[in-house]
Amino acid sequence: MIQLNKNGEPPVLTANKDAWKNELMGYIQRGEKIPSSVSNRYNKTEVKESLRQESYSKCIYCESNVQHISYEHIEHIKPKARDKYPELTFEYENLGLSCPKCNMNKGAEYDENVPYINPFVDNPENHFKAIGALIWALPGDRRARLTELDIELNRPELLEVRRERLNSIRSLVEIYNQETNQRLKQSLKNEIETEIGEDKPYSFITSKLVEALLN
Ligand SMILES: [Zn+2]
Repeated sequence: MIQLNKNGEPPVLTANKDAWKNELMGYIQRGEKIPSSVSNRYNKTEVKESLRQESYSKCIYCESNVQHISYEHIEHIKPKARDKYPELTFEYENLGLSCPKCNMNKGAEYDENVPYINPFVDNPENHFKAIGALIWALPGDRRARLTELDIELNRPELLEVRRERLNSIRSLVEIYNQETNQRLKQSLKNEIETEIGEDKPYSFITSKLVEALLN
């Protein structure tokens, strides 16, 4: 997880969110089932495009490149379930791009007293530590620990792809460290910096590896 910045609210939400929210809340007040055509109105091309831009098409939680693994989900940071925060269904600040697995793991869980780490608000650097391919909550950080456990930030399939990523970057760093020609060294450094950029998958852990290994 890395810190992200929210774009401005897409015009389609600014123009419609109040009307959409009122209609949705009407169903809830009347105790009626909410048609998906009413509850899913946030799912617009412009909204998705803006969310993709903010998180470099990566899951806001696990940093997997979402388009590479499957369809991206629009995640409600505070769940939109009718007994949770339905009034935030169309609030852009409450949306983020997520992979299906993180989205599902989080589900409709949310504890106001121990809220999950929100990469648009919190700086994950202050909550997590990368240990190789593992992402650990800092000692005593209950919010980070709950996020790590519930979203399963260290699930086996993630560890596997992160290890592959670390191995390929480690090879690059070793080549860099052994190179004596300064021009070549500079080019290799540029390449390493590109590979650990925020727009690349798993940059939270890869940047820490480079920090530790680069001479
Ligand atoms: Zn994810």
